[in-house]
Amino acid sequence: MGDGNLDADIVFIGEAPGKKEDEQGLPFIGASGRFLNEMLAAAGMDRSDVYITNIVKYRPPNNRDPSKEEKAAFSPYLQKQLEVINPKVVITLGNHSLSFFLPKAKIGELHGQAHTIEFGEQTIVLIPLFHPAAALYNGSLRQTLIDDFLTVPTLIQQMDTLSK
Ligand code: URA
Repeated sequence: MGDGNLDADIVFIGEAPGKKEDEQGLPFIGASGRFLNEMLAAAGMDRSDVYITNIVKYRPPNNRDPSKEEKAAFSPYLQKQLEVINPKVVITLGNHSLSFFLPKAKIGELHGQAHTIEFGEQTIVLIPLFHPAAALYNGSLRQTLIDDFLTVPTLIQQMDTLSK
């Protein structure tokens, strides 16, 4: 279902488990997970500070993209997870995760910015980031993702200041 801190301020949402994740029942533990851990460390956090999950909780056969129906089928689980954790921000990783919340959104335009959206009965602050797997071997995307990632603590601080 997910991994991490149920009192987290930040929930990361990927697409669906990869092979390794599916075998071990934990999200983001392969190559993209290691990259995610590195970025968390660079931002002064580790996995036990945040909660990490996926839109679709099982690995689609042959590693294909999750279908619309699969994403819809897991939506109630995600709603419940966000209700229980009630994070300050939800960070979508990659286009699949972003378009689940905002079907028309383009990650190239929205990445690294906070957006307030409605999800079921909840109002959530969403920060779309590129997917670590997409950025892993692409120098400029990698740097963009790292730069966006490092602004997250500041964005949360600004939200806290505004809400006081
Ligand atoms: N990619 C994802 O989207 N999720 C994982 O858990 C691992 C890789």
